[in-house]
Amino acid sequence: MRFKSADKITAFVDNTCYECERSYSSPSHLINHMANIHHIHLNPRPQSDEERPVSKKYEFTYRRLTTYQRVLFGCPSCWFYSYRNLQTLAKHIQNSHLSLIPESEQMPEYDTSLNKNVAEQDVLKMWDEISTNLKKFLGTE
Ligand SMILES: [Zn+2]
Ligand SMILES: [Zn+2]
Repeated sequence: MRFKSADKITAFVDNTCYECERSYSSPSHLINHMANIHHIHLNPRPQSDEERPVSKKYEFTYRRLTTYQRVLFGCPSCWFYSYRNLQTLAKHIQNSHLSLIPESEQMPEYDTSLNKNVAEQDVLKMWDEISTNLKKFLGTE
């Protein structure tokens, strides 16, 4: 039996965190994880509703259950992937997605005092007081 793509290597593109090597079922899960755990903020792929472009070398499989020959570490922000090496992925992400934004593209300053986030800050302050009291109550402080 011959598949039409028999000359390509089947590969699974994993969503692996380069900081802790955990893998996630989708790029967006990985992005959330990296933001929450490592405070590394990445944007989702602009073409997230499209399929990965066709590769000359690989035939991509999309499920872990599918038999595949190779695991690639995919970038959650673009179509970059690296083979076997999380360091390459880390370097790519740092260079392509985390380098400093040129000054002209920086977000304009907002007047935070007029922001509706004030309510949120109140909640945070309240939570601070609650946890301080709780610590006192538990005798941990
Ligand atoms: Zn991680
Ligand atoms: Zn990328």
